[in-house]
Amino acid sequence: MSRYWSRVVRDLTPYVPGEQPQLPKLVKLNTNENPYGPSPLAIEALRAEIGDTLRLYPDPNAERLKEAIAASFGGQGVVPRQVFVGNGSDEVLAHGFLALLKHERPILFPDITYSFYPVYCGLYGIAYNAVPLDEAFRIRPDDYLVPNGGIVFANPNAPTGRFLPLPEVERLVAGNPHSVVVIDEAYVDFGGESAARLVARYPNLLIVRTLSKSHSLAGLRVGYAIGHADLIEALERVKNSFNSYPLGRLAIAGAVAAIGDQWHFERTRHAVIASRETLVADLAALGFEVLPSAANFVFARHAGRDAGELALALRERGILVRHFQQARIRQFLRISIGTDAQCQALVAALREILSA
Ligand code: PMP
Repeated sequence: MSRYWSRVVRDLTPYVPGEQPQLPKLVKLNTNENPYGPSPLAIEALRAEIGDTLRLYPDPNAERLKEAIAASFGGQGVVPRQVFVGNGSDEVLAHGFLALLKHERPILFPDITYSFYPVYCGLYGIAYNAVPLDEAFRIRPDDYLVPNGGIVFANPNAPTGRFLPLPEVERLVAGNPHSVVVIDEAYVDFGGESAARLVARYPNLLIVRTLSKSHSLAGLRVGYAIGHADLIEALERVKNSFNSYPLGRLAIAGAVAAIGDQWHFERTRHAVIASRETLVADLAALGFEVLPSAANFVFARHAGRDAGELALALRERGILVRHFQQARIRQFLRISIGTDAQCQALVAALREILSA
């Protein structure tokens, strides 16, 4: 702490991302990255973008990318005015908190969800109530039909992986016409169903998505939101009061090409889903309870062994998984889906640890 720090900074409790060690041979299953590379077309587009034009600022509105995103929602009538883009979905979410969730009443989000939400509340001075998930770690829409300043949740939720079916999502959104509902769909491509088709009917619904997971571009930092043009305008007002150029030329070019490569997207997300199903069966055979997952990770606890100790023992064998020191989930491990070889290495290590 320094006497030069502002009051705001003194009071912050920053988000702590999963570790990113630079060791070569790690089996890295701790930050939900995609084990497959990005689209070769995206790599090609990135290469083509490197040149003299990098001396020029990028398009501050990234129109090309907004058009590609709107087009990717094909039949749902999304137009570029309903699209906002940012430097990763974390930035999109941050702007959403300030632009749409900071009101008189506290906002609501699940007690177990993406741990960045309370951090944004701290940064922007937004009061919140954490609403407990039920005993099976499901969101209960009825709990959200109370006066509130806004609602945010991830669907599939993180770190549970559980998906709230669309009719339930709609009940929650329709029951809150006076506040904005932000749905963080970072993991939706791995088995959920997007609420994007509800956007046309609900002016209070904002969908946030990322290219970090299902497009395997975590390193490029591209996220976006879909919603009514009035909500998007609010996000643009915050963005243009903060950073005019959140996406560089490389990010725009790479993202446009990645979104255009439907074949690569379908192939890799189905590979992840198939590996997940195998891993779920293998973990169950080892005595784990695994929550039903619609994401590129599983959330699992072992009946007889402490999760913190398991995470440490895996680490000693060069395998990283995520363990949260948080009430209700201390006995769970969050394991990202790797390649089949990585999943097998994990299962073999667990078998060895559990039999010791
Ligand atoms: N939402 C959720 C639920 C996440 O788990 C993550 C990844 N940490 C993000 C948003 C942010 O992803 P990114 O900023 O890479 O788009």
